[in-house]
Amino acid sequence: MRAGQHAAWLREVVLDAVALILPVECAGCGLPDRDLCSDCRDALRSQSLVLPGGFPIVAGARYERELRAVILAFKDGDRPGLARALAPLFAAALEGALRLARVNGGGDDTLVLCPIPSRARAVRRRGFRPVERLAAAAGVRGERLLVPAPHARGGSQKSFGASERAENTRGAFRVTGRARGRHVVLLDDVVTTGATLREAARELERAGAIVAAAAVLAATPRRIPNPKETPTELPPSPS
Ligand SMILES: [Zn+2]
Repeated sequence: MRAGQHAAWLREVVLDAVALILPVECAGCGLPDRDLCSDCRDALRSQSLVLPGGFPIVAGARYERELRAVILAFKDGDRPGLARALAPLFAAALEGALRLARVNGGGDDTLVLCPIPSRARAVRRRGFRPVERLAAAAGVRGERLLVPAPHARGGSQKSFGASERAENTRGAFRVTGRARGRHVVLLDDVVTTGATLREAARELERAGAIVAAAAVLAATPRRIPNPKETPTELPPSPS
């Protein structure tokens, strides 16, 4: 057995042992005894999309099929450890967003990564902040420039259309950190209509920041209210 084969074999043995102690199923397809099976892991491939809008929103992949199941398990299925499997997609989105942010005039010394904050109720329920967990798994740390506004309506937006979402998110955030003159890259997990990101950007810009781009793990491009849905190619890397 070569070293690579041996490592793969050993990994399977360890996974079997773990599955005996902690019964799990694949977060993507439900296959028993695997936290994430190799087929689903392979399906989590980055295919960055740039969504139209006031500032570029770069998504790691489309929010569908296995990826959607894995994200739901990560956020609301009590499996925060899946952040490690999702990190490469998030890192790809972040890389694209940072490149576009620099094109838009943000220098590395002024660029700040700002996570979209989770509501306090969601943090209590989950016991962690998904966006910050993803950022940490991708090796970066955001700065909390935004907090949920105390009077924000919030609640689930899942059944809402674009205009309802825009209405529901108005006044959702308050700026807490130093924003003036800084180039911000917003971080979020899933973008649906973009209403949350736009509202966060509006609030930051009112406080004097320049929102240069956003990086999100996954996007549902069909629900973005703009006919230009075709993903745009990222500009070539300067390196
Ligand atoms: Zn699977």
